Amino acid sequence: MKVLFVSAEVVPFSKTGGLADVAYSLPRALRNQGVDVRVMTSRNFHNRKVDVVEEHLLNTEVEVGWRKQYMGLSTATYNNIPFYFIDNEFYFKREGIYGHFDDGERYSFLCRAVLESLLHLDFEPDIIHFNDWHTAMIPLLMKKHYNHVEKFRDIKTVFTIHNLKYQGIFSPVILNELLNLDHAEYESGALEFFGNINFMKSGITFADAITTVSNTYANEIKEPYFGENLHDLIENHSDKLTGILNGIDFEIYNPEVDPKIVQNYTYKNSSKKNVNKTHLQKLMGLKKSKQPLVAMITRFTNQKGLDLLEHIIEELLGLDIQLVVLGSGDEKYENMFRHFSYHFENLASSIGFDEELAHEIYAGADMLLMPSMFEPCGLSQLISQRYGTVPIVRETGGLRDTVEHYNKYTQEGSGFSFGSYNAHEMLYAVKRALELYNHKTEWRMLVKSIMQLDTSWKHSAEKYKKLYMELLE
Ligand code: ADP
Repeated sequence: MKVLFVSAEVVPFSKTGGLADVAYSLPRALRNQGVDVRVMTSRNFHNRKVDVVEEHLLNTEVEVGWRKQYMGLSTATYNNIPFYFIDNEFYFKREGIYGHFDDGERYSFLCRAVLESLLHLDFEPDIIHFNDWHTAMIPLLMKKHYNHVEKFRDIKTVFTIHNLKYQGIFSPVILNELLNLDHAEYESGALEFFGNINFMKSGITFADAITTVSNTYANEIKEPYFGENLHDLIENHSDKLTGILNGIDFEIYNPEVDPKIVQNYTYKNSSKKNVNKTHLQKLMGLKKSKQPLVAMITRFTNQKGLDLLEHIIEELLGLDIQLVVLGSGDEKYENMFRHFSYHFENLASSIGFDEELAHEIYAGADMLLMPSMFEPCGLSQLISQRYGTVPIVRETGGLRDTVEHYNKYTQEGSGFSFGSYNAHEMLYAVKRALELYNHKTEWRMLVKSIMQLDTSWKHSAEKYKKLYMELLE
């Protein structure tokens, strides 16, 4: 079985969030299960951390409305995964992967270029698995522009929604100007969205199967509260929707051998984690202390519950804890952390994206706070569990499916959680975690048990493989 996996970001070449982790680790797990998966992405190497030798395959041109734009295609193998890189320096040699004024054009180009490259490659996929809005025009473009080509006729498409909030909404003029589609697509309602066109809608409507990254989120997005105005459409297509939980790469996130942390450890000697805590305190300019160290590693958006934190931050910092924050995003929150770091000596924040520091925090913290308003799956809580850092989460989406609230009577659970999107409920959950922290034996048992959870890709990759096979039957 041959699968082309398409994503706008992929570790280790580019990353803004969990999508990049998945685009590397799911194909890797599928390859271990005998599926010939290859990953295609734009050649945006701004946070590229590895050196790979690329082989240039071809130059060609891609139709973007009435223009023809240059496209280069190169390939490289990294950790046994073949990657294809679509190159156009005007579109992709920029700071940041998204958020440019011409994202509509950049990702229209990417969708078309993916299909165009298949005309030239000797790789003939049975499945194109595409991810989030950036690649969501692929099935429609395939039907409209490539149906006459033999090798495209039997290709099935799988669309994974990693976050429904970001949909790719642009003026209808791009239909003709950039995608070479006629206005009928707009008139039919298949793409129309409050007078604009919506890439995400195309993915949902035209893919042969849709997945999203947890069971709970798969159900939530059929409801108006989580459905981002697409809940009716999703409900209508729910017969082809499945929730498959994300996993994490157990090689990248492994405290036993992780080269990014100062002291390796396993669940058998988890007390060695303390060396990482002391190191982290020093690194972040906090005083050496036995106080519980709570961390957040996150994009600064309302989705991640930062407005809850804002509400009670002084109360939280008034507790006997230290707080470490790593992230970037909304200026309002960047300034909030700068301000409170200045006024509270038990808060240290690092504004930016820093992969190395993220590992040091996962290893050095005692707890990870993740109070998301909604969370399709969430990877940070899974990584933190693997490093014996107890997650405190809100019960939504994938957080609900991966963190079971600790029961002090049965001593079962894998973290702490709270239900309502309410700042004091969150604070109360933190306090319950702090209370257990003082019971050293129980705390140590909880740390050891979450470190042994199997949140690897193995089981979920099997589910994707099964889904591919069903589509090809
Ligand atoms: P999302 O994809 O919504 O941002 P996830 O929890 O699914 O959230 O994935 C976030 C990923 O990005 C994790 O691997 C996390 O460690 C990483 N991450 C988030 N913010 C930062 C940052 N500022 N620096 C380094 N890594 C980060």
